[in-house]
Amino acid sequence: MKQNYDIIIIGAGLSGLACAQKCSENNKDFLLIEKSNRIGGRVGSVRNEKFIFDLGFQVYNTAYKTTNDLLKSKADEFLPFLPGAKIISQNGSTIISDPMRNFSKIFHTIFSSAGTLNDKIKILTLKFRLSNYTLESDDSEDMHTIDFLKLYGFSKKIIDNFFYPFFSGIFLEDRLETSSKFFKYVFSNFNRGIAVIPKYGMQEIPDAIFSNIDTSHLLLNTDVTKLLPENNLETNNGRTLGYNRLVLTNESCSLVNQFNIKYNSVKTVYISTNRRFKDSRYIHLFPQDEIINNVAFVSSVSPNYAPSEKTLLSISIISKSPVNNMEQLLKEKMVTYFGGIASDYILEKSMDTNRATINQLPGFYTNIREQKGNTVLAGDHMINGSIEGAVVSGIKAYECTVK
Ligand SMILES: Cc1cc2nc3c(=O)[nH]c(=O)nc-3n(C[C@H](O)[C@H](O)[C@H](O)COP(=O)(O)OP(=O)(O)OC[C@H]3O[C@@H](n4cnc5c(N)ncnc54)[C@H](O)[C@@H]3O)c2cc1C
Repeated sequence: MKQNYDIIIIGAGLSGLACAQKCSENNKDFLLIEKSNRIGGRVGSVRNEKFIFDLGFQVYNTAYKTTNDLLKSKADEFLPFLPGAKIISQNGSTIISDPMRNFSKIFHTIFSSAGTLNDKIKILTLKFRLSNYTLESDDSEDMHTIDFLKLYGFSKKIIDNFFYPFFSGIFLEDRLETSSKFFKYVFSNFNRGIAVIPKYGMQEIPDAIFSNIDTSHLLLNTDVTKLLPENNLETNNGRTLGYNRLVLTNESCSLVNQFNIKYNSVKTVYISTNRRFKDSRYIHLFPQDEIINNVAFVSSVSPNYAPSEKTLLSISIISKSPVNNMEQLLKEKMVTYFGGIASDYILEKSMDTNRATINQLPGFYTNIREQKGNTVLAGDHMINGSIEGAVVSGIKAYECTVK
């Protein structure tokens, strides 16, 4: 194996892969090093003989323009959730049909009491204001999302029933303390695009980005442990490699002391059942449940996630409250919300993701993260905590290496 490369990229998450794809397209001499045994970082799936389990429930948004370009026609094959959400509460259930687009329907449902005309106007004005939103050009005051919503004049009802459950499931924190700028970014994306998943699981996204890259450019199971003098680095398996330009992604930025990012965590529980469900192409939200944030019937959106006779439910839990016998509790909750008996529901997998979305508090986007000499920093934390943010950071990193 070669000892020296023009460009070495550390980390085969989406940022590293995006950078690698640009290197490959431009015939650069490069190596992509990844410590785990697969590509994709925080985007991926594992499978068994029956099911596909994404590594935590997440969705692609069709408005992710830069990633769409990278994925080429592949993104057109992704399968959509129905826009909007189904809200399950003690009083029953209601569908918010595409709240960012189809406003008329919202107010026929749970927001029909006094004050909701105001909410309707507010959503319309916000939609209009954010129609061409970009984080980079937003010089407004940054604050917690919850403060922004209150200041904007939304009623407690729409905040509790829609904004809290919907956006806490995206941010993976239930106080809506995330930067209002990131809220605006996500809101504007849901205005422009819809939530989709690939036919065969989220792993298809990194696999598609990597598909045109020769595998000789990839080194898996290799942890870069140290940067050495004179543009060399050391790996856990005792190798020394040299480079002209180095791209560090995500937590590998700690190799140059440039990483102080905190993450939100999530527990994802997969349950299968032979039952079928109404409205199962909506993401289901549970504003009053002390444990469950959302349930996605992933096999209703993409049938490949489960055998034809089964439905696979992905349950996202962001609450940190300790729970005794989670399996039994979730089965009972499924019975309460969706009917049947506890034995209809089978626990297939449970996974804890401690490093899920990055914690983007107000002020996050003003902290300048510097480049150091021939070392370029990339990763979602350099742009914003999303698939698109990671990809944009990887492409920018490539551009820095060829300046
Ligand atoms: C549960 C969950 C839900 C999410 N929901 C959404 C969503 O709905 N929509 C959305 O757009 N985004 C969502 N995200 C965020 C999105 O997945 C991330 O923003 C994106 O994947 C980050 O990519 P990255 O390349 O910046 O980082 P990572 O994916 O973390 O990649 C970094 C890579 O570098 C490797 N690495 C680190 N250090 C070293 C080293 N020293 N040597 C070798 N390799 C190293 C790591 O192993 C890893 O593979 C979600 C994330 C999670 C986990």
